[in-house]
Amino acid sequence: MRKVEYPRVKPDHAPYRFDDGTIRIGGELYGTAAEIKDARGYVWLALQLMDGTRAAGAVAEELRRTFPELSPAASEGLVGQLLDSGYIEDVRQPVPEELTRDDQERYSRNHDFFRRVDMRPGRSGWQAQAALKCGRVTVLGVGGAGSHAAWALAAAGVGRLHCVDHDVVEVSNLTRQTPYTEDDIGRPKVEALAQRLHAVNSGVSVTVERRKVDTEDALAEVIAGSDVLALCADESRGEYINTLADRVCAAAGIPWVGGGYSGPKITIGVYGPGGPCDGCLAAGEEARRRQGPDPVIGGPGVISASAGICGNWIAYEVMSLITGVAKQPPGYLRGLNLMAPDQLVYVRHPSRDSCEACGTARRPVATVD
Ligand SMILES: [Zn+2]
Repeated sequence: MRKVEYPRVKPDHAPYRFDDGTIRIGGELYGTAAEIKDARGYVWLALQLMDGTRAAGAVAEELRRTFPELSPAASEGLVGQLLDSGYIEDVRQPVPEELTRDDQERYSRNHDFFRRVDMRPGRSGWQAQAALKCGRVTVLGVGGAGSHAAWALAAAGVGRLHCVDHDVVEVSNLTRQTPYTEDDIGRPKVEALAQRLHAVNSGVSVTVERRKVDTEDALAEVIAGSDVLALCADESRGEYINTLADRVCAAAGIPWVGGGYSGPKITIGVYGPGGPCDGCLAAGEEARRRQGPDPVIGGPGVISASAGICGNWIAYEVMSLITGVAKQPPGYLRGLNLMAPDQLVYVRHPSRDSCEACGTARRPVATVD
């Protein structure tokens, strides 16, 4: 990790002070905001000095000059802690060579977003963008959720997208599958999608396959070489395809993100090496559910808004994994209920020992010498 040489407080995290000297930094947002007790004003001065015009050593020196009671070690320690806090960027950090000038113009808002959410020390927003550009994602299923996910990933600059679906465009798809138009009715979805994504972002390499994926081998083939699987296959195959994804992605050592909707309830699952799989989460939910008939979890009801939220959310989780900005390790289900704004979904259960995808019974991954 690069050392921060010319520190500046990230503009998105600008600090302010309360009457008792307490500093609030990182805004008001849970996940980035923090408060620092600073009755003597040491931290406040250090933050003011971190404006990108001086080296980190000069900040420590100036602190000592203003506060002679600070030892060199204390002053340097305080500056070091701030440099590691995630609130400081290095104004002289070069833009990664993968990103051209055109990229920097196109993705400037992405940069600002990642600068804000990437709290690892010494990281710039451009590093996240470079990671996206080098990323490869398989999108399986390009209907309601998948067409939005594919659009969002292409628009954000994920370098290589592999889109897989066997369907053709039907008139009833047009209520929610934004890449398709009336002119596309009867065309294979992947063909129309590839054309649309190219028009959105010609810098992204889009490959497509028109095929049905319903076996382990077929899934292993379509994810070969990918960093993440975005699983957006339709409802009727939902449960089974999730089991396939657990197994095949565990064997390939890559994470997967899946999404679904049950009427107004939209959920997104994020799974990956080291965390509990979808099957273990489902088993945990089953165990705590009231005994009785199986609940109805699916259904064909979907509108543009629910499909769009689901697909865009899948895309976000995929980008979060590729860039490494995710704070929560994989192995959870999150979501919301459009009918009840105060219901947020969050589910996590431990791996079952007997699980072949994520538990201790996991089948060994084949290795090549
Ligand atoms: Zn499992």
